[in-house]
Amino acid sequence: MTDDPTEPTSGDNLPGVRATAAKCVRCGEPVQARYRPFCSRRCADIDLGSWFTGRYRVATDEGPENQDGPEGGTEPEKP
Ligand SMILES: [Zn+2]
Repeated sequence: MTDDPTEPTSGDNLPGVRATAAKCVRCGEPVQARYRPFCSRRCADIDLGSWFTGRYRVATDEGPENQDGPEGGTEPEKP
């Protein structure tokens, strides 16, 4: 299995392949220029959605009770 055209090893011999050898950060499919860095709008949508959701979750899951402590913003690093 050394003839994989998806391998970005020698992009000089591949016909029709431009400098866009990037892969979708979501599913790994070839990236479409208009949807970079995703392969399609679907992946971009999914990623954006999960990103926002995750951010919200983390923000609300941080533990607001700490705001009552004397150390307002000098918290030690978490593991
Ligand atoms: Zn994708």
